[in-house]
Amino acid sequence: MDDRIERIHSAVIARNPAEPEFHQAVGEVLESLEPVLAARPEYLDEAILERIVEPERQLIFRVPWEDDEGNIHVNRGFRVEFNSALGPYKGGLRFHPSVNLGIIKFLGFEQIFKNALTGQGIGGGKGGSDFDPHGKSDREVMRFCQSFMTELSRHIGPDTDVPAGDIGVGGREIGYLFGQYKRLRNRFDAGVLTGKALGWGGSLGRTEATGYGTVMFAKAMLATQGESLEGKTVLVSGSGNVAIYAVQRAQAEGARVVSISDSSGSVYDPDGIDFDLLKQVKEVQRGRVADYAAARPGAQLRTGEKVWTIEGADIALPCATQNEIDEDAAKELANNGVKLVAEGANMPSTPEAINVYREAGILYAPGKAANAGGVATSALEMQQNSARQQWSFDTTVGKLSEIMASIHDTCLAAADEFGHPGDYVLGANAAGFQKTADAMIQQGLV
Ligand code: NDP
Repeated sequence: MDDRIERIHSAVIARNPAEPEFHQAVGEVLESLEPVLAARPEYLDEAILERIVEPERQLIFRVPWEDDEGNIHVNRGFRVEFNSALGPYKGGLRFHPSVNLGIIKFLGFEQIFKNALTGQGIGGGKGGSDFDPHGKSDREVMRFCQSFMTELSRHIGPDTDVPAGDIGVGGREIGYLFGQYKRLRNRFDAGVLTGKALGWGGSLGRTEATGYGTVMFAKAMLATQGESLEGKTVLVSGSGNVAIYAVQRAQAEGARVVSISDSSGSVYDPDGIDFDLLKQVKEVQRGRVADYAAARPGAQLRTGEKVWTIEGADIALPCATQNEIDEDAAKELANNGVKLVAEGANMPSTPEAINVYREAGILYAPGKAANAGGVATSALEMQQNSARQQWSFDTTVGKLSEIMASIHDTCLAAADEFGHPGDYVLGANAAGFQKTADAMIQQGLV
């Protein structure tokens, strides 16, 4: 790293102790900006780097709630409003026991560049709680969501900050959150949250958008090599919203997806994942991958094992969580002949894993580009809410497809411009950063 960039990264580490994921996300972006800063020294003169790594606002709040037995619990809520240069803060809410300020800051920081790449006029933010929805009744989840929103409602709004789902936050949670917001404000502000149900402001295609978009991005990457998904074998990790629809779309493109996983282990399904069964087990029964394996002849349950050791795949789509592919897992992928990694999850590859991809010549797209279809379609939901319209599934997915193609081409053009053809990491960071940095300069020192 260049000296000044190194100093800024060290200052971020010193100023934000015990936040390793945030340090990692900042380090990855700063490292790839060297050629951009050499070409555009005004970004250094205007202290854009020092400003962009500091969130505009960070909220931490108490979330008390009562379980079905009358016991009182206290969780911690977060909302980090990172950067509003391009529009209202936009980014999901994550409910998972691992959530802390550093995780939310890494996600919020990534979101700035991702949202810039979508071209949709949205700033970057992220939030969540260390609440674990697993094993809770619907009523318990509702009471938690109501308590969480009672505080969050003071800070959000359709033109201020627009949360959505992420890990542990799906349609059920968005419904409870919206209901409480509406009750507190006495306003039907449809555009305050995205990922709503279809009957009251949701967008067709939003549920599918992140998984579909990731596969669309992978398809565009393959096209640069004169290849397609037809006949390819694919590893997918995770079994939540992103994974389910990545499976569906990849198989619709003629690929065979042979794996899914959750935090207890993975499933190898050599005949190809049965999408209808997966959807039934996960979305209707709220079950685990073990339930899928039990119901699917020929599928093997691999308790405690990740998917990356499965042999014979051409493509890997990590769709679970951060740092799920470390150096050893990346070496397994390379040795087993995987040629392409496109990230449905946020930051699923460690920096060491990314070095392995580079050395092995694996085509690699970071989450901030490859999974941007989710937030892009959230912005399409906001457009429909403003116009009081509901577009058809094909209209929304058609727009998503155009957006993913545009993000892909934008990344490659920026990689070319800064002398690293085919480097999607540099391309995504350079393009997202420049758009945000230019807006920050134009809006003055705020
Ligand atoms: P879900 O909660 O629907 O699913 C998450 C999946 O990942 C589950 O299978 C879960 O297993 C697994 N998982 C989560 N945490 C861990 C962990 N620590 N170790 C192992 N497995 C884990 O979330 P999403 O599908 O919405 O999100 C998946 C990823 O995609 C996240 O990185 C998210 O930030 C990213 N993303 C999501 C978007 C969206 O629109 N939803 C948009 C862009 C990115 P288990 O049930 O056992 O916890």
